Amino acid sequence: MPTYDLADRSALVTGAGSGIGRAVALELARSGAAVLVADLSGEAARRVAEEITAAGGTADAVAADVADPGVHAGLVEAAGRMAPFKVAVNNAGIGGEAKPVGEYSTESWLRVIDVNLNAVFHGLRAQIPAMVAAGGGSVVTMASVLGSVGIAGSSAYVASKHAVVGLTKAAAMEYSAQGVRVNAVGPGFIRTPLLDANLDTAAADALAAQHATGRLGTAEEVAALTAFLASDAASFITGSYHLVDGGYSAH
Ligand code: NAP
Repeated sequence: MPTYDLADRSALVTGAGSGIGRAVALELARSGAAVLVADLSGEAARRVAEEITAAGGTADAVAADVADPGVHAGLVEAAGRMAPFKVAVNNAGIGGEAKPVGEYSTESWLRVIDVNLNAVFHGLRAQIPAMVAAGGGSVVTMASVLGSVGIAGSSAYVASKHAVVGLTKAAAMEYSAQGVRVNAVGPGFIRTPLLDANLDTAAADALAAQHATGRLGTAEEVAALTAFLASDAASFITGSYHLVDGGYSAH
């Protein structure tokens, strides 16, 4: 498969130790970026960085909880030491409890909003000024198809992803004229450890049937769109929300 040209730049990918983030990190590296693989689990991040270097790419790994506002400046600095910092993919996310609103715990609500939304804000606040200083760049936020439609039992997740889409648009309005594009990706249901942890086989099959494709997506299909948005091939694309949802939201 062809790649986009991401040579001579570094890319930070959060939540890159697993699932979609791992696939994005591998794809950006295959396209020539030096990738900083960040994950809650330093061990998982290290394994992905080793996959990249074994394939001939450039990568480093770091353990970071993106919900900690204090980590983001260090992530940007670490990526900038590898090559000019021009790409950030704010991908880390969690599903939270599966309960209706009336039974949803405050603890789970706050953690989902912290990891899925507040962390993206803290990330953008560190990433975008650094990219402006480096002459421009591209930021991708990993929202979800649930950034535009609802689903029962996941109120915190749905709310966080709708908010990420809004945050992405606002940041794009503020910084695109200074050369930093900001876009959201909205995956449909993708077979990853996050999905497997939240769904049994029958539920996964039922969800697959709700996609026009009749199947769940792959992390690599999300990574292909993300790499495009990260690259200069998407130079007139900013402030928008790009679905890769197998037609889930088409009906
Ligand atoms: P995943 O397989 O669980 O991978 C997420 C990674 O993020 C894991 O390595 C996880 O580490 C890490 N992570 C969790 N909390 C973190 C934190 N506070 N700081 C740093 N890293 C953290 O999930 P995925 O399915 O690839 O999801 C990736 C993103 O895509 C999420 O934002 C998700 O909402 C979004 N998305 C997924 C789907 C889907 O169907 N899978 C659909 C739409 C959107 P641990 O494993 O150690 O927790």
